[in-house]
Amino acid sequence: MNARMDQLEPGLYIVATPIGNLGDITLRSVEVLGGVAAVACEDTRVTGRLLNHLGLRKRMIRYDDHASEADRARLLALMAEEPVALVSDAGTPLISDPGFRLVRAARAAGIAVTSLPGPSAAIVALTLAGLPSDRFLFAGFLPARDKARRDMLAGLAGVPATLVFYETAPRLGDALGAVAAVLPGREVAVARELTKKFEECRTGSPEELAAHYAAHPPRGEIVLLVGPPVAAPADSRDADRLLRAELESARPSQAAARVAKLTGLDRKALYARALALK
Ligand code: SAM
Repeated sequence: MNARMDQLEPGLYIVATPIGNLGDITLRSVEVLGGVAAVACEDTRVTGRLLNHLGLRKRMIRYDDHASEADRARLLALMAEEPVALVSDAGTPLISDPGFRLVRAARAAGIAVTSLPGPSAAIVALTLAGLPSDRFLFAGFLPARDKARRDMLAGLAGVPATLVFYETAPRLGDALGAVAAVLPGREVAVARELTKKFEECRTGSPEELAAHYAAHPPRGEIVLLVGPPVAAPADSRDADRLLRAELESARPSQAAARVAKLTGLDRKALYARALALK
């Protein structure tokens, strides 16, 4: 399916929309929204404002994943004949937003599906926070209830990746408290009002950030990020094992330096131990 043709082919077009700054709509998204027969959306008032801003008048069809099978079937029948866009109120559809069931049903029905990339708060936050970005796990919203929230964090404790959560301003303090209790020692970031006038991103320990936001109650939309587990400090048996391996090919001073780098243990103490092991 080619989204750059004058006449769009029938199918489902997933279109990401801005998360605050209307300038973040892509050229291709404008082109596709201009070319579709209808726009499926969560809230016709919210999407109506965006289309109005783009100077477009389009048929809008309310859709979310709780839609009845009959409503979904009607939408699928339309996109089998005409190009139809799916947007959410803001950001990328399907990312903590409706669309999964529709995409699944469209694919099962042999309807062409294409996705136009654009803003998503999780990715914007990850690129801003300065936490490791080589591996991350997006976990959606943390539960509102404390026990469920702590259980979810405990379930993610062993994941060797930055954790990314969507959060609301009124619940941020409780969420930071739960992170402090369940994932102690982690570096945390709060990314707020991304792409908007009062955008901010603060990093620190969960305790520091909880104290800051207790004194300055946050407003607006929030992404909470939790850095990966800190490597467990090596114990003396680990150090002996590593030193023995190094001593097979290196002098005690070199072995101590390498193991100090690996474990963070004191190099002089490791040197003394290497001499004893030799
Ligand atoms: N699909 C959207 C996306 O791709 O970002 C997310 C939709 S989800 C229902 C809404 C949540 O995303 C908010 O509660 C907040 O956690 C996060 N979010 C959306 N816009 C944001 C922004 N401008 N700054 C920070 N977080 C935002």
